[in-house]
Amino acid sequence: MKFIEALKLKNKLFLLFLLITFGLISIGIMGAVNMKSMKKNIDYIYFGSLVPVTELNNILQTYNGELTTTIYKIKSAQISQSEAIARIDSALNKIKKNWQSYKSHYKKEHEIEYVEYVALEIKSINNYFISIVKEGIAGKDLKSISLNTLEHNAEKIHQILSKLINYEVEVARYERSYFLQKYDTLVSQVFTILVLVVIGILFISYYVFKSIQNDHTTLEIATKKLKQANKKLENVSYTDSLTSLHNRRYFNFIYDKELQRARRNHTYITYMMLDIDYFKQYNDTYGHLEGDSALKSVAKVLKESLKRPGDFVFRLGGEEFGILLTQTNEENSEKIAQGICDAVRAKEIKHERSKANAFLTVSIGLVCCIADEALDDEILLSKADKLLYEAKESGRDRYRSETNGANESTETEVAEEKIEKKL
Ligand code: GH3
Ligand code: MG
Ligand code: MG
Repeated sequence: MKFIEALKLKNKLFLLFLLITFGLISIGIMGAVNMKSMKKNIDYIYFGSLVPVTELNNILQTYNGELTTTIYKIKSAQISQSEAIARIDSALNKIKKNWQSYKSHYKKEHEIEYVEYVALEIKSINNYFISIVKEGIAGKDLKSISLNTLEHNAEKIHQILSKLINYEVEVARYERSYFLQKYDTLVSQVFTILVLVVIGILFISYYVFKSIQNDHTTLEIATKKLKQANKKLENVSYTDSLTSLHNRRYFNFIYDKELQRARRNHTYITYMMLDIDYFKQYNDTYGHLEGDSALKSVAKVLKESLKRPGDFVFRLGGEEFGILLTQTNEENSEKIAQGICDAVRAKEIKHERSKANAFLTVSIGLVCCIADEALDDEILLSKADKLLYEAKESGRDRYRSETNGANESTETEVAEEKIEKKL
């Protein structure tokens, strides 16, 4: 069955088709052959065995009936001599015809000898009748025919033909029982062969089907694996390896999608641009590895600050992050921005060279508005960038926001806190 497994799906289907076709054809041929053999046998019994019997019977009837009666009738002057001659002639012809026909049937070796013997006897008795005809034609009065010779001949031919008829009947009987016996065996043989063919076809079909099914399962598994691999690849291509946050690629994708949705539904959209303060100095002071670890800590704070499914955080590159909030109004957006500033600072990641605070801080540019068709793709980004710059310029560790066009200064308690801490 390895051969089947090795075949391609198309070839397997073709093989299955061939098997079914072959099965149907062989069943058909077997049926036809069987019918033909049945027909032959029936023909043989009724025409091969019974016809000879009928022919012999005809001969016997002609001898015992027509010929004998004709002689009796002429002796009792019931018919004329010429009529008698004509009747005898016609009867002899009939006998000759039947005998020739009988002889033409197939005979076995041992039968031929007896048939030859019967032929000689028939010839001799026919000669007896021919001599009567000849005498009649010659003008002899046929009333003088000896009944003794006639009866002796009639008796003799009766015995010989009866023996042959009995033999032929026996043969017919034997052939019939032989046929019936053979027929039973034939039927069981054909049935067995049919069952074997059907089982064979079922067996091979099962393997072909199984193999097709296996192919299908393998294909399904392969497709599933491929899908998983694709998903993994997609995740990898959308994920920043250092922080495990979404990367800029994913930001581009989500930003377009969410902005379109907000425009369509006229709902709030908030974009925040976040940058770590004095991070160059941080790296210079504590080294690049410490810098990476600080980036991870900030990423963790950002993730923890955004809990709703419609909130997204991205590492856009370096120590810059982007935050996208959907369905969040100005007040809540600002709360979140403030919360992030507070939470990063509260991590207390030491940053001695920062002019903003003793610990690592971040600045945020925040834009929040209800989106409409007029909202440009770039406007949110450029405004957030500008506001981030303003937050930096105005002392860092804070957010600057613009909501629906209003540029608000948010030098909140953050700045005061910062001053306090510095002192
Ligand atoms: P500012 O407050 O104005 O933002 O000052 P800054 O020093 O943070 O200035 P800037 O944003 O231009 O500096 C970015 C620095 O961030 C430069 C680089 O040393 C650091 N940085 C960028 N990407 C990585 C990173 O993947 N790992 C580490 N450790 N540092 C990075
Ligand atoms: Mg920067
Ligand atoms: Mg920076």
